Amino acid sequence: MGIKRIIEYPNDEEALRRKSKPVRTVNRRIKKLVQDLKDTLMDRPEGVGLAAVQINIHSRVFVVRLGTKVDGNEDEDTKLNPPVAMINAEILEAKNEEEDFDGCLSFPGLFGDTIRPHFIRVKGLDEWGKPFEKIFEGFDAVLIHHEIDHTNGVLFIDRAESMKKLYVIQEDEEGNWIKIPIDMKKPS
Ligand SMILES: [Zn+2]
Repeated sequence: MGIKRIIEYPNDEEALRRKSKPVRTVNRRIKKLVQDLKDTLMDRPEGVGLAAVQINIHSRVFVVRLGTKVDGNEDEDTKLNPPVAMINAEILEAKNEEEDFDGCLSFPGLFGDTIRPHFIRVKGLDEWGKPFEKIFEGFDAVLIHHEIDHTNGVLFIDRAESMKKLYVIQEDEEGNWIKIPIDMKKPS
């Protein structure tokens, strides 16, 4: 158990783009992997999701920190829950595609606007191997879509409409956070 090294683009692109294999049984090895993913994600407060491929293990497993509206009050800030794992997650239905904020622990300092569904119906196994089928909406849907992409070797830069939609965030002299577009060559 413990915190693992997160592999990064572009050095580890080949590993990041490799498709992960389905989990056959949720055995001790998978339970340890889930714990390692949770430990590694909790060590990175800027992160909300982490897939096994990002610690160079090509099994279809990821952990996400979903948000919940406090008391259903839209004005309240979204609170992040502790990470939960999803195994062999598969999208059954996806709709309401919109542009939204995206980033990835394998791309430190890089952010972007990507187009993803804001409504998804997903089936898979929970970390105890129990099957589930659930609907996720809003940013939770964006996040799970991002992680399922990882299990298929798809990266968030692939979902940006153009390189103009990718940027780094820096503080200017007045202390404002500003977006600086980057001119990054899209991998083919
Ligand atoms: Zn990611």
